[in-house]
Amino acid sequence: MMTNEQVMRYGRHLIMPEVGVEGQEKINAARVLMIGAGGLGSPSALYLAASGVGHMTIIDPDVVDVSNLQRQIIHDTSSVGMPKVESAKKRIAEINPNVQVNAIQDMLSNDNVRQLVREHDIVVDGTDNFQTRYMVNDACIFEKKLNVYGSIFRFDGQSTVFCAPEGPCYRCLYPEPPPPGMVPSCAEGGVLGILPGIIGVMQATEAIKLILGKGRPLVGRLLLYDALEMKFRELKIRKDPSCPVCSANPSITELQDYEYFCGIGSNATLEGGEEDAAQPVKQVSAQQVKEMLDAGRKLTLVDVREPQEWDITHRGREADSAGQRPGAHERAGHRRRHRGLLPSRDAFGARHQFSAKNGFREAAKHGWRH
Ligand SMILES: [Zn+2]
Repeated sequence: MMTNEQVMRYGRHLIMPEVGVEGQEKINAARVLMIGAGGLGSPSALYLAASGVGHMTIIDPDVVDVSNLQRQIIHDTSSVGMPKVESAKKRIAEINPNVQVNAIQDMLSNDNVRQLVREHDIVVDGTDNFQTRYMVNDACIFEKKLNVYGSIFRFDGQSTVFCAPEGPCYRCLYPEPPPPGMVPSCAEGGVLGILPGIIGVMQATEAIKLILGKGRPLVGRLLLYDALEMKFRELKIRKDPSCPVCSANPSITELQDYEYFCGIGSNATLEGGEEDAAQPVKQVSAQQVKEMLDAGRKLTLVDVREPQEWDITHRGREADSAGQRPGAHERAGHRRRHRGLLPSRDAFGARHQFSAKNGFREAAKHGWRH
């Protein structure tokens, strides 16, 4: 039974024939697992909360950083430094106190994913890395739950619903992860702040439709959105009859080592004698680069920043003696100066090659300016 407050709050839903009291009660009884309280999780959680989803579990290990606020609209300036899940919970309580929020500040892992998926009706995947996507996909197949998927990069986004019995799963669409470093993250390549709003709200829309059992969900359809052209396209995606997880005779029937599957070695060593085909250039942190320099190791640092990245640390610093923005034709020479990251090994014939993780952004934290 809905309270008087709920009848008033959800009035615009109650008068819709596709929702009505029965539909609203379904929404109020629904349990949604939100994976990530970031770019996609923010708008979807806000709208699902406003719609009256009765229970939401939000899992995210991170704290709010000022660089999140350009797009992660569930957080605000006053929540910088706060766990994202706590910030999200606080905002949801302000929007709709009827929503019960379970805030989990943790990584989603093989230890918790199956139980979390099992305890919810629908999963909204707002993750930004491949290993978690495969893990969420497999867990949803094993636990027979729907996975509302979204992804974003720069001006492009996509959304679909995976893991319906009649539709494809993430592995049907992407049987193999890309080689590590091949697909830049939003942190590396950027993302239009508005874009996750569009894609996250699509995910919320699909979640509500699935809860209501109304309309035609994005099962077997990958919706592509191009913000620059302001165009939507739809691709038919089919269930792979030989899919290792969702086919009739699956070869994968339990959770895997997803970091290994995605080529992210946890045992990469600094001295890296062995060459791993999956990860030809080892990653080191800016701190490790500093330690190598402090230890007197002979390093050649090569800057592979794009001109717009170079601008970030140099705009407004014209007095800086090195303050010349590299033009495209100058960049080859610019790269040879002693800055930033590493290029292909052919150019240097170096004995060991490392890629400095997060490059100039990290380096700046260590006080390097160029
Ligand atoms: Zn599949």
